[in-house]
Amino acid sequence: MRYLTAAKAATYALLSFSSIASAWPTYNLHNSQFAKRQGPGDLPSQGGQTEEPVFNEEYDFIVAGGGTAGLVLANRLTESGHFSVLVLEAGPSPEQVLAYESPGGNQFIKGSVIDWGLLTTPQEHLNNRTLQYLRGRTLGGSSTTNGLYYARGSASVYDHWAKLGNPGWSWNDVYRLFKKSTKLNAPTSTAELSAFSQEYKTFNEDAYSDGPLQLGFQGYVPPSTEGFVVACSEAADIPIVEDLNLGDGEGVKHGTTTMDSMLRRSSSYDSFYQQARNRTNLKVLHDAPVTGIVMSKPSATNSTSKPRAIGVSYINQITGFVSQARARNEVIVSMGAFHSPQLLMVSGIGPADELEKVGITPVVVNENVGHHLNDHSVFSIMARAQDNASTTDMSRTPQNLRAAQEAFYQNLTGQYTAPSGVTNGFQKLSEQQLRDIGAQAVIDAGLANQTHIEYLFESVWYPWIPTPYWAPLSNDSYISVTASSMVQLSRGTVSLRSASMSDPPSSTATTTPTPPTAPSELLHSSTSALSFATRPCRASLSARILVKSALVPRLLMTTTKLSSSTSRRIPFPTGMLRVRTRCCRRRKVVLWIVG
Ligand SMILES: Cc1cc2nc3c(=O)[nH]c(=O)nc-3n(C[C@H](O)[C@H](O)[C@H](O)COP(=O)(O)OP(=O)(O)OC[C@H]3O[C@@H](n4cnc5c(N)ncnc54)[C@H](O)[C@@H]3O)c2cc1C
Repeated sequence: MRYLTAAKAATYALLSFSSIASAWPTYNLHNSQFAKRQGPGDLPSQGGQTEEPVFNEEYDFIVAGGGTAGLVLANRLTESGHFSVLVLEAGPSPEQVLAYESPGGNQFIKGSVIDWGLLTTPQEHLNNRTLQYLRGRTLGGSSTTNGLYYARGSASVYDHWAKLGNPGWSWNDVYRLFKKSTKLNAPTSTAELSAFSQEYKTFNEDAYSDGPLQLGFQGYVPPSTEGFVVACSEAADIPIVEDLNLGDGEGVKHGTTTMDSMLRRSSSYDSFYQQARNRTNLKVLHDAPVTGIVMSKPSATNSTSKPRAIGVSYINQITGFVSQARARNEVIVSMGAFHSPQLLMVSGIGPADELEKVGITPVVVNENVGHHLNDHSVFSIMARAQDNASTTDMSRTPQNLRAAQEAFYQNLTGQYTAPSGVTNGFQKLSEQQLRDIGAQAVIDAGLANQTHIEYLFESVWYPWIPTPYWAPLSNDSYISVTASSMVQLSRGTVSLRSASMSDPPSSTATTTPTPPTAPSELLHSSTSALSFATRPCRASLSARILVKSALVPRLLMTTTKLSSSTSRRIPFPTGMLRVRTRCCRRRKVVLWIVG
């Protein structure tokens, strides 16, 4: 994995000196050699040069990574007032990119200073393409930059985790906490907002309470979004439900979003951090990347004593000082799926070969670190649409965008009140259906009793980037349906490029079919029937897609060309692919890809 942008945190750190940063760890500069302007040879020795680590500061808990989970933990740990907590976040305050707050502004975050801009290594099973791996690099982490969709998993999944030996993770355990942490804002909070369609913005108030994380619904609803809900039910037998956060998991409706009643994002930073920010036992530093975990030295008297994490080293990029902070109780690593294993390995915890490859002496050998990377792969079908079924035109010209932004900021109206897509359908397949599409591996893995496919509707060309096969035309409007596997069996890895946290980790995505001879379950998400209707233009598209592994990258090209009745053969690496589309009653377009 490498960084997409060359932006260095230090540059932005200069711009981001805020109240959060006021409580810096301090050197005693007034009494220092620096203050006396003496020569460098007289400077006192720094931590790391002596046998025992030298700590500048001390807390009960240190949270490495002030992202989604990190700020929740910081809030809970400081609630009683009994513990002091230091949170260290590599990125800046999210106010650096204010677009993060608004639903329509979500499209501007990618590649900004609050995104890590990671890329995978070339993916053998995706024609050696590299993939973008977006990750939030700011207080609130990826909850500050994500797609705003709020969803809880199937109860059976949590119960399965508990049965595997993880007490406290059953559905009954987590449901209580989900409920405690959230507040759902009914969609008609203002006159302006109640002007938007409320159909399918339903919820069961028992599933929420008065927690810090604010939930709500998108404002503007393109008619195609409602068509998608109906079509999920008609074509894929996905029931239209009142609420998707009750543990059943199966169904379709307008999604709950992490937005408050005034359509502002409610990230971990806006919710859990804001609730706790004035506690005197909490110190949160942004622009403060953690560079290593300080491990205890082996005991001279007890050869069986295990090494312990006793602190962290970090750089305060605003002062430029390097510091070592001691944790009396625990160091908590919450730096996300890529940087957490990287920090462990850089600190000597991980597979011996991996560490020795970059010259790190192992402190704790653990072959699992950096393995089992689990992600959900998605495939999108993009289609041209009438302007009023899409929100593509909002960003077509600077004038359009400005008008949409003004409507949002002045009156809470217009297309900018909605992210491009937060209405998803969750489909559960029977064991027979799984077998029929060649997904026996999913059953064997014990994943039959849960939802299997998530369909995401977007009122734009999604994902936002041109594909290698087709680029959106500037005058066209688009809608997209994306199928996402919820039963991913493939696993990826995170490995080291160097012994330093200042180099990005190297990552393979989760695209390798597992086992190699079985059809990847990744494809199973695409092997399902789906139909969606774009009312009121009364056109609907249904796709039955049967593809084999090698055909998948071509899927995008094929489906984006789908606009009229046609039948053609397209060359593929494994032979010809027959594609048939036909228009039928009510301008229904049906597509088959038969691999
Ligand atoms: C573009 C995008 C869209 C998404 N959409 C959705 C969605 O709609 N719904 C949904 O439920 N999920 C979504 N997700 C997934 C979800 O947001 C993440 O799974 C979740 O936020 C991860 O939380 P985390 O605490 O594990 O990591 P993060 O929230 O990423 O936090 C990790 C933090 O550690 C920091 N860090 C990294 N290295 C260091 C270091 N050396 N020192 C100090 N700090 C460091 C990072 O800057 C970051 O702030 C999306 C994710 C992305 C990226």
